[in-house]
Amino acid sequence: SSPVSESKDSSTMAPVEVQQYDYIVLGGGSGGSGSARRAAGWYKAKTLIVESGRSGGTCVNVGCVPKKMTWNFATVNETIELAKHYGYDIPEGTKIDYNYFKNTRDAVIKNLNGAYERNWNREGIDLVHGRARFVEPKVIEVGLPDGTIARYTAPHILIATGGRPTIPTVPGAAPKVAVIGAGYIAVELAGVMNAVNVETHMFIRGENFLRKFDPMVQQTMTDRYEAAGVKLHRKHPGFKEIKLLRDGKGKDKLIKLVGNDGVELEVNEVLWAVGRSPEIEDLNLDIPGVKLNPSGHIVVDEYQNTSVEGVYALGDVTGQAELTPVAIAAGRQLGNRIFGPPELKTSKLSYENIPTVVFSHPEVGSIGLTEPEARERYGDDKIKIYHTKFTAMYYSVMPAEEKAKNPTEMKIICAGPQEKVVGLHILGLGVGEMLQGFGVAVKMGATKQDFDSCVAIHPTSAEELVTLR
Ligand code: FAD
Ligand code: NDP
Repeated sequence: SSPVSESKDSSTMAPVEVQQYDYIVLGGGSGGSGSARRAAGWYKAKTLIVESGRSGGTCVNVGCVPKKMTWNFATVNETIELAKHYGYDIPEGTKIDYNYFKNTRDAVIKNLNGAYERNWNREGIDLVHGRARFVEPKVIEVGLPDGTIARYTAPHILIATGGRPTIPTVPGAAPKVAVIGAGYIAVELAGVMNAVNVETHMFIRGENFLRKFDPMVQQTMTDRYEAAGVKLHRKHPGFKEIKLLRDGKGKDKLIKLVGNDGVELEVNEVLWAVGRSPEIEDLNLDIPGVKLNPSGHIVVDEYQNTSVEGVYALGDVTGQAELTPVAIAAGRQLGNRIFGPPELKTSKLSYENIPTVVFSHPEVGSIGLTEPEARERYGDDKIKIYHTKFTAMYYSVMPAEEKAKNPTEMKIICAGPQEKVVGLHILGLGVGEMLQGFGVAVKMGATKQDFDSCVAIHPTSAEELVTLR
């Protein structure tokens, strides 16, 4: 990189060399990496990534990847437990080696950190490890691992610094114990823990969890978790105090939860999963004057422009559909728009009809509108609902109580005389893999008749989606 100017270091007033780039990306997570690679790899923009933690961001290090591996780990245990219904004689008391699994998982993640950095390197992207902050509207300062300070400038700066867990201010909330929350993370991790026989308490404010999903999903999944042994504390009034009674590892650690209703419970770990906050604290966003909304997320328009020209934001830091592929897709479109050919100058990501899967036990898949949203948008008389609930063939050999615990359920929401599919919600074994293809159909504007015109694949659960009456 070439030095172009000098600026004053505010602490010492010594001049600091400012290195010039075409594009500076703050955060080497899903969105930052996607955008930097598009800008540098495709359009040869001189690009710098500033990353304060491990390369790859939330998804690779503490999100999607370790979560899905842990979900697979729990699924193996569920399969072992159900194997007897197929005649397998699995000895009682099969041990789970958690450390073996954790070490294997850590190695996969370390490999991915390296893969991210190799990709950046191959595409000519410079990487510095350190925490970025604005010192002038278009100048970024980074404290480098060797203790020195570096400054960088570019006409285009992307903020893709993601988020971190929100921890409410309950006295003593720092130690970790049961699962508090009702969204993706709470449901996924409670499901995993319950599946590997950990006594799992879930504290939810409402009657059901996953309240942003279709009512079918909320109701069936919450009941299913309870039937599978998760101890649900519905309509929980929140906590007055969370107190560490005894420090230690595993069962040696003891934490007391005191509810606002006075009810007490002692557990070994607490997991807060009540949402995530944008990671903006150290960035000095007041220097460029980047506007925030009341929740602290960066305000952007449909093109990922912030309130400051030449400064953009995407991914979790904006609070828009906090999903890895969303951040990547938005980052690539932004790269196209800034550095691509003229026909891409209006590139942007459409946030409509984004498919999503909750890796609960069983999985939930959803795209488009929930039933209440569809009724509100189109009116009750314009909406037609197709619904089915059944037992997947996998469970057919099992006793009634096991079947009852493992429903498969599907709902298609259609609008207008053409019966355009505006919402599709599925839960059950394998729906995570099922949704992507149906997502393409919904994105293309498929109608119920288009679904019906596709010949079923038998015997699958997915075939129900093309034979609904
Ligand atoms: P991030 O990936 O968080 O990247 C931001 C990066 O910026 C981080 O590496 C951080 O270290 C760095 N950074 C922060 N501040 C600074 C600074 N001042 N200077 C320099 N660097 C900085 N999504 C899915 O699609 N599927 C899933 O299954 C899924 N599972 C998840 C499970 C969990 C437990 C969690 C927490 C999230 C999950 N997500 C999942 C969401 C997904 O991980 C995020 O939506 C995605 O990572 C957001 O990408 P991002 O680029 O906005 O931010
Ligand atoms: P979510 O926004 O999914 O869920 C948080 C939920 O917790 C809220 O909806 C709310 O539900 C409940 N809640 C909020 N405040 C409190 C409180 N004080 N006490 C008790 N409950 C509270 O956030 P997560 O942290 O679970 O996940 C963050 C994001 O990461 C997700 O939104 C998702 O976009 C992404 N993610 C995606 C995954 C995937 O794709 N599979 C997996 C994991 C995360 P209520 O109003 O019902 O109380």
